[in-house]
Amino acid sequence: MARQAAERVSPPPVEPVIRWFGGLILTRIRTLVPGLCALLFVVVSGVPRSEPLSTSAQGPAAAARNGAANVTAQRLLNAASEPSQWMTYGGNYEEQRYSRLARINRDNVKQLGLAWFADYDTNLTQAGTPLYIDGVIYVSTAWSKVYAFDARSGRQLWQYNPKTPGEWIRNVCCGIVNRGIAAWNGKIYVGTLDGRLVAIDARTGKEAWSTLTIDPGKHYSITSAPRVAKGRVLIGESGGEYGVRGYISAYDAETGKLDWRFYTVPGNPRNGFENEAMRKAAATWGGEWWKLGGGGTVWDAIVYDPVTDLVYFGTGNGSPWNDRYRDPTNADNLYLASVVAVKADTGEYVWHYQSTPADTWDYDAVSPMTIANLTVDGKKRRVILQPCKNGFFYMLDAASGKLLRAVPFTTVNWADGVDMKTGRPRVRPEARFPVGKPFNLAPGVQGAHGWHSNAFNPETGLIYIPTQLAYFPMVADASFTPNPVGYNLGLDFAAPFTYYRDHPELPKDFVGYLQAWDPLTGKQVWKGEKNQGPTGGALATAGGLVFQGGGSAQEVRAYDARTGEKLWSAKTQTAVLAAPITYELDGQQYIAASVGGNPLGGYYAPNYSRMLVFALNGKVQLPPEKEFTPLPLDPPPATASADVVEAGSQKYSQNCAACHGDRGQTRGANFPDLTRTPLLHTQEGFDQVVLKGVLADRGMASFATVLKPEDTEAIRAFITARANELKKAPPTPWPPGSPPTQPHTEH
Ligand code: CA
Repeated sequence: MARQAAERVSPPPVEPVIRWFGGLILTRIRTLVPGLCALLFVVVSGVPRSEPLSTSAQGPAAAARNGAANVTAQRLLNAASEPSQWMTYGGNYEEQRYSRLARINRDNVKQLGLAWFADYDTNLTQAGTPLYIDGVIYVSTAWSKVYAFDARSGRQLWQYNPKTPGEWIRNVCCGIVNRGIAAWNGKIYVGTLDGRLVAIDARTGKEAWSTLTIDPGKHYSITSAPRVAKGRVLIGESGGEYGVRGYISAYDAETGKLDWRFYTVPGNPRNGFENEAMRKAAATWGGEWWKLGGGGTVWDAIVYDPVTDLVYFGTGNGSPWNDRYRDPTNADNLYLASVVAVKADTGEYVWHYQSTPADTWDYDAVSPMTIANLTVDGKKRRVILQPCKNGFFYMLDAASGKLLRAVPFTTVNWADGVDMKTGRPRVRPEARFPVGKPFNLAPGVQGAHGWHSNAFNPETGLIYIPTQLAYFPMVADASFTPNPVGYNLGLDFAAPFTYYRDHPELPKDFVGYLQAWDPLTGKQVWKGEKNQGPTGGALATAGGLVFQGGGSAQEVRAYDARTGEKLWSAKTQTAVLAAPITYELDGQQYIAASVGGNPLGGYYAPNYSRMLVFALNGKVQLPPEKEFTPLPLDPPPATASADVVEAGSQKYSQNCAACHGDRGQTRGANFPDLTRTPLLHTQEGFDQVVLKGVLADRGMASFATVLKPEDTEAIRAFITARANELKKAPPTPWPPGSPPTQPHTEH
């Protein structure tokens, strides 16, 4: 039964919101800014939606729940022959995101319509790939929450909330997101922002076990999807921008006990090495890298290959980004920016391929990987395909790690190709941006490709890649000192604004598009339309179709898999970044997409984070969008001296830009645009938030340990000055033509 528009609940009353914000500060601010109540109303209007749980449900839903998430080794190994299901993050162990379902195909896809939708209790960005198992859809949302929905009706069966402390998001570079979950033997597994791995009873939604996977004294987080292989849950972590040491862990799926862990970079040699792989890696490092952790977080791709019995994973950037401050000897720094293979049973090192030696560009090698059986140069091989953040498409032999292909799949200017004998990129020296010599990098730190899922169709032999064309000016921070909170990059992160202002002739694009790519020829076969910022993940089906989230274009769409002709689309009222999935139930094929993200409307705009499920002849309409008036740009007068504003700019760049964006102008859905915040009107109100932490439960923790009152005054002066500049002469957004969102969108 489809949920109709009339079923939407009303927003909550304003009163609880006022209590939440804290009486005193609110009273002060309300006298200054009459519009604030409306603002707060909007902020939470998507929040408390309580869906009645049916505890005595009869019929198909109840039947499904009795054997909830009954995923076994045999079912996962044969996932391709059970196409009615979507039991694991990438659809099957090979992570091809290809379904043999073909009831929806090129001939009838135009009849696809909404069958049901279900709202989430958040207006934040959604990145989660749903799972579909035996009549139930499971999906993770912002704040690492998990929902279970009856796949026929969209009725919510349960919601699990790990109750992540709001202040933990100070350790999170790129959004309060979660990209997915795993299922195994009656349980659903989710990693939480604050570093827990939680097993949830799939029938009840109650916690079965929970284990802390990180050192809580360090700035780790989890946004990626766990995978299950051979009774173990595999999970990595994020935090490479904050000074941590990366690793991947395997936990017993039944008990949560740690089985093995593989660190991706060596620790302090004085403490000895965990294994021979770390000893070898240490020979590729100089300086005292361990003091800032080294980096190499495993923040996205993890693939278990049942044929080789290996686990492949990608590792992230070095910490700090700028390798001069990580390792003055400019050595390779294994196993940063690499694909690494370990034995599934022990975590023992087997092989690695480092795509970016001596990484200094945030070129994580963690983008999704796909396994395929291809005939390469006349020889049948099992290969790993990875379009990498550094702009090269790599094909590696799965058993040995041998490099078979390395071809740029978007604009690349940091290297003139890859030497196929050594596997090393031919780096252009100027791309290493020596101090005083900025470099307009492509792909920029946004990457050629982030976490957005690829799909591989074994019939067309094509891989469908959500691709980015992106520039970013790399400007070395001439006087880097590690920051106990916030980013540790060794880059002047405030420089892009001034750099592009002073160099208007340089390209500044940041756009995304889907492209079909032939992994054997290394050639593009077709490309879809561009959208601003990242584009969404892909799903390939035997119906000759590729479904894709259209990013900020706010639609789910279907392309002809061979020609790229756009055959269907549906407007979603919000950005679509996660890849859709497909499943079959009662002889009907469905397409399900978790949507949400509003880079153009901003934090205060109403958002529409939901599960959308489409079927042939679906007739449900989304309710009309709510009316919304953006907050006015109405700062107090700028009275501070240029010196104070400059000091505020530096402090802002180090402590605030990660979330609130370049010069306070972020208007993404996740964080407020500070040039428009009413808090600019009073230092007392500003400090209540920044130093006293009154919004900690919303994610804005106190910065009292790193900022003094004169610092916050300077920061407020800087944002105020910036807001006045904007008001006087609204400049081109940065970078021109792109959505005013976070400059850095990966981990
Ligand atoms: Ca990174």
